[in-house]
Amino acid sequence: MRGAKLMVLRALRAAGLSRAVAASPWRRRRLSILCYHGISLQDEHEWNPGLFLAPNVFRRRMEYLHRGGYAVLPLADALRRLGDGTLPPKAVAITFDDGFHDFRVQAFPILKAHSFPATVYQTTYYSDYNRPVFRLICGLMLHRGRGRAYPGKGWNGDPLDLCAPGSVDIELAKLDRFARDNNLSGRDKDALAEQLAGCLGQDWNAILESRVMRLLEPSSIRELAEQGIDFQLHTHRHLTPRAEQAFRKELDDNQARLNEYLGIRPSHFCYPSGVHHRDYPDWLRRWGAESAVTCHFGLARQDHDRMLLPRFLDMNFTTDEEFDAWLTGVVEFLPRRTYQAIEPDAEPSA
Ligand SMILES: [Zn+2]
Repeated sequence: MRGAKLMVLRALRAAGLSRAVAASPWRRRRLSILCYHGISLQDEHEWNPGLFLAPNVFRRRMEYLHRGGYAVLPLADALRRLGDGTLPPKAVAITFDDGFHDFRVQAFPILKAHSFPATVYQTTYYSDYNRPVFRLICGLMLHRGRGRAYPGKGWNGDPLDLCAPGSVDIELAKLDRFARDNNLSGRDKDALAEQLAGCLGQDWNAILESRVMRLLEPSSIRELAEQGIDFQLHTHRHLTPRAEQAFRKELDDNQARLNEYLGIRPSHFCYPSGVHHRDYPDWLRRWGAESAVTCHFGLARQDHDRMLLPRFLDMNFTTDEEFDAWLTGVVEFLPRRTYQAIEPDAEPSA
């Protein structure tokens, strides 16, 4: 199915149709909002290519935007102009979810080289408590340890055997459930991750030093903001509670942290893991949010609910043809499956 679609995209591009669509008044009324998470420091994309891109892939994407003459706009500006109907041709906004440390090291220099503005939807719990994000670091360590059985007892007293296909995911689900069922704190989870590293024979200190799966520290957020990076809301704990008061608290805590770091009161929001329920748009409006983005694939239009804006989630395995189709808008003319949010829950209970 994907193969057939790629053939169609290739044919459209060869016929010059995609270029015609990109330059059309139809496209001018639309905004392509690109969504990224992490850009690998090491082998993160090999474990989770939906969440992490290899640096060379990200560089190629940005070069593609540059060569194609796309107008990369700051998010708030782009949304305002989308509303006013004053977008320039080929308008794009670039967004990053979560605010990983790798943004500073990998993504930012590439963005800067092209003078592309970008928004980081920063979740702040793991920025304050600057340790590896539990679920992500466990997943990466298990992936690195796959294909082997380990001597002695595993982290939960059971033997640890990662030989069978799928055993990494099963073990990760067990760790996740254990942390949730026992209501582990951030510190407890960090100790458990360290214990897992020991079981797998991996060097926890080297992992910490590499800063993989860690978020930006407040000082880095400040530095990046000074260099023009826009920081916006993604909840404090990467959670979307089902009760309005708890939901508002996540926004308040997130905003208060960013206010403390930067002296600003951000008001653009991104749903953690793309999860949104029926009530959220109204809750966000009542709270005072200006916009909210999802992980639904599509170009944003003027008539979209501002609290349910679509984006394009770029992945390590996205082909050049697909990326081109998102930018030109050609993708809107093709039949599509409904994309699900694929970002794993990256969050703690405090
Ligand atoms: Zn997220």
